[in-house]
Parts: sequence; C-alpha cells; structure tokens
Amino acid sequence: MSLPRHPSYDLVVVGSGPTGSAYVREVYDRHPTARILLLDAGPRLTDPPGTHVKNIADSAERARAQRASEGPGPAGRPGTRLLEAPDLPAAALSTNVGGMGAHWTGACPRPGGGERIGFIPDAEMDAHLSRAEQLLRVDAHAFDHAPFADEVRRRLAALFDAGRPPHRRVAPMPLAVTTRSDGAHTWSGTDVILGRAAADERVDIADRCLCLRVVLDGDTATGIVVRDLATGEERRVSARAVVIAADALRTPQLLHASGVRPPALGRYLNDQPQIVYAVRLPDDVVAAHRAVTGRTRDEDGAIVAQSGVSWVPYTDAHPFHGQVMQLDASPVPLADGTDVEPGAIVGLGWFCAKDISPDDRVEFTDTAADARGLPALRIHYRYSDRDLAAIEQAKEAVAEAGAAVGIPLDDSPLLLPAGSSLHYQGTTRMGPADDGTSVCDSHSRVWNTRGLWVAGNNVIPTATACNPTLTSVALAVRGARALLAHLDSTAERSTPAAQAGVGTA
Ligand code: FAD
Repeated sequence: MSLPRHPSYDLVVVGSGPTGSAYVREVYDRHPTARILLLDAGPRLTDPPGTHVKNIADSAERARAQRASEGPGPAGRPGTRLLEAPDLPAAALSTNVGGMGAHWTGACPRPGGGERIGFIPDAEMDAHLSRAEQLLRVDAHAFDHAPFADEVRRRLAALFDAGRPPHRRVAPMPLAVTTRSDGAHTWSGTDVILGRAAADERVDIADRCLCLRVVLDGDTATGIVVRDLATGEERRVSARAVVIAADALRTPQLLHASGVRPPALGRYLNDQPQIVYAVRLPDDVVAAHRAVTGRTRDEDGAIVAQSGVSWVPYTDAHPFHGQVMQLDASPVPLADGTDVEPGAIVGLGWFCAKDISPDDRVEFTDTAADARGLPALRIHYRYSDRDLAAIEQAKEAVAEAGAAVGIPLDDSPLLLPAGSSLHYQGTTRMGPADDGTSVCDSHSRVWNTRGLWVAGNNVIPTATACNPTLTSVALAVRGARALLAHLDSTAERSTPAAQAGVGTA
C-alpha cells in the first residue's frame, strides 16, 4: 500500500524503523480502538514487513533486499546509502520498511554513567529499558557456546573488571536475537517490535510513501502531507497525534520543512568516533581450549557473524564502549600462512563519546531541495581538541585490550572515518526545559507544538558511546505513554469533521 487507506487516523508515525515501530506497538497494545498509520518512504521488503534481512535465507534475495533499501546514490554498508557529506564521510541512511532496523547488528547494551539522561529518574529509565528489551527480544546468552568466547571474556575481565559494579563488568553482548528450537537464530527486525499490530485492521502500513511536511493548525499538529512515490500523487492525512521517526538527519529535515524550527533543531549532532583493532588468540590458548572442551574444530561448528560478541561496558572511569567480535577468518590463511580457527580472530571496536557542540549540526536551506524536494541538508562536523585527546586515549585502551586478548594483527589501532558508527544522535534532542538547547521534552513532545512527537537516536541528549538503539526505543516507550494520555485527553474533542480531516490545513 503506497497511499494511506483513510483520510484520518488517531496516530500517524513517519518512519518505520525501531523507534517508529515502538510507538505503533505501544499505542496499539494500550489503546483499544486507536487507528494507526505507519508510513515509510522506502519499499516493503518482506512479509511480514520489517523482517531483518539476515533472516532471508536465499543470498540473492537478501542482496536484492539490501539494494532496494539503499536507493539511488553510492552504497555504504549493505542496506545503506552514503550521504556524501564531506564532514561526515561515512554517514549513511537506510530507506525501507524497517529502516536500519532491517540491517543492524542488534547490539543492545544498556547505557551507564554519563551516558544516562540526568533528568529522567533512573528507576523510570530502567523500566523503559526493560520494556525496550522485551520489544526487541534482547538475549545476552544466545551465543554462550561460541568457540573461545569464554576465554576472550576471561582475558578482558582480568584487565577491566576490578572496581566495577557487577552490571558494568565484561559480559556477553546483549543482542536482539531469538534462538529457535533447532538452534538457529532469528534476528529482530521491526516485525518483532510490531508483533500482532502489523496484521491488525487498526494498523495500516504504507510503503514508498514520502512525508513532505507536518500540517499545523496554529500550534497544533493536525496531520501530514504525503506523496505516493510510485504515482506522484499527494494527499493530506489528518491525525490527532504525529510522530516523526525519520532518523537523525531526516527528522529535523521534516520539522524544518513544516516550519517547526526551534533554535536547537539539527544541532548537537553527534556520532561516536570508532577505533578498531584486530588480534588473534595465541596457539597455546587454542590448543588448551581443544584439550579442555574435548571438542574438535568441526564439533565447535562455524562461527557466524556476531556469534561471539563480548561487551566492555562504558564507565565514567573508562569512557569507551568496547564491542569485541570474534570473526570467522577461515578459509583465508593469515599472511604468514597460518590457518586460523573460526573464532580465534578477534576484532575490537572501541567507541568514544563525542564532545557535544551546537556547532556540529545538520543545516537546512529553503532555497535548495534534495532529490525528493525536501529542504537540502548540509552537515557541519569536526572533532574538538577534547575529541582528539579522547581518540588517542581510546587507541591506547583498545591496544591494551588487544594485548590482553592475543597477538596483534594490525600495526596500530585505526580510527574509522567520521560517521562509521551509524549512530547519529542529538539533532532533535530532549531537555528538561525549553531553554533553546533542546527540541523536545523528556517525553519527546516537541516544545510548543501540541500533538507532535519526535523519535530516534536524535532525541538522545547525552554523549553516549554505546550502541544507542535500545536507549532510543526506551525513550519511544516513554514518549508513547505521554502520547496515550494525549489521545485520551483529545478524545472528546475529536469531532466527525476532524475525523474526516476537514478544515485543518
Ligand atoms: P531508522 O531505522 O533509520 O528508520 C528511519 C526510517 O524513516 C527509514 O526507513 C526512512 O526510510 C524513513 N524516512 C525518512 N524520511 C522519511 C520521510 N520524509 N517520509 C517517510 N519516511 C521517511 N544500532 C545499535 O544500537 N546496535 C547495533 O548493533 C547496530 N548495528 C547496526 C548495523 C548496521 C549495518 C546498521 C545499518 C545500523 C546499525 N545500528 C545499530 C543503528 C540502528 O539500526 C539505528 O540506530 C536504528 O535503526 C534507528 O532507528 P530509527 O527508528 O530511529 O530510524
């Protein structure tokens, strides 16, 4: 379906990634009659919609789904298109039902220390994070038996665990994945978040449907204008509440296009500088593993991507997020001819928290348009002296971690190009007060605009180093509570004329 079936809905959600889908699911579950429209500019790849492409067994079909998500322009990582922004050269976007959530790795660590949002009480945030873990079906133990994973964690723990509270010690990475009864794995896409909502009459999902702007009646959002990308037909759709969950670059773009332009819009853009390093487990460790487990290499089985993922949590004393992934290097031998066992090559990624600045921003213009006619965007982004110092410290930390795990394969740790983390944040960030440094309140309601919510990593106000999707889904859960209260409070005033979308342009 490319154009919405109805002229009017209770809730319209723009963007079908994990955060938009979380709003749909929360409102669907808790409101007995709400009619909901979820729309996306990209194509529907799977049935049910939003399935993770890694679950597509046929490799040609999977590659087709990835290409369809990229759209025109140079491809980034599979399923993404590069933005071509010189200041953020690796920045990339996905345009498909499910958003990046159909392509992601699924790492779902909880934030800690300075990553947490000071103006949301910890107990409330923890409850939202728990609900987000349910929605994403997060499991920290899906790959407990990956070869050498225990040994990798034992070595990292010896270096990092002293003085840490139990929940911030080295651990298996919590991943959005389900282990089936046959032992195979199903990766969580937005089909998992939407659950039964996707198949219900009350919920419409429109693909290849571009939102052009939010319609405002004074200071109240009353709907959106959409374009069917197949036919070019445009239409207005009324709604009692609108959520824009169109990623960290296109959410502020839509607000700008709608004339909603708080001073912080597009500012505080941050992406986590990422440093990588690779090592291999020493031969005697591999031999000892064989002796202790009694298992042969064949019995251990092949390691699949992400099967051995370990986590060195961020703390204020070690302000980096460590993601440690065991790779399957076979059958490629190392340069010296050594044949490496699956799981014995270990990639370490250390993510830094950006030194957040209002000058790092996505800027829009009213005089130029992008390929789809929305305001053209331009990125301004640089590393401050503090960032450069943090990057050097992270290089030392990852080299130390690598030395604890095994034998270095790289000469030195490598800083990836800016934008590589795919974790763009801050551009519609939340704040405790409308003081010009935030776009929305702690329930993701856009300041001074009734009925309008924003969602995504863009609402996160802190400098996180950890993968942010779990946090932004938790913030969507929080926002949905406020949205439900709004639907209740506007129910009486919802007249038949308003339902039909009359008179609100
Ligand atoms: P998105 O998933 O980006 O979805 C936004 C959607 O909005 C898109 O589908 C887009 O088409 C749509 N849209 C935009 N503009 C419009 C418009 N005008 N009209 C209609 N629709 C519009 N994160 C983690 O936390 N852990 C990981 O391990 C991890 N690994 C990743 C690995 C890869 C390869 C990739 C690509 C991403 C990874 N991420 C990871 C990032 C994660 O996928 C994102 O944080 C998450 O998907 C963001 O969710 P979202 O709902 O905010 O937006």
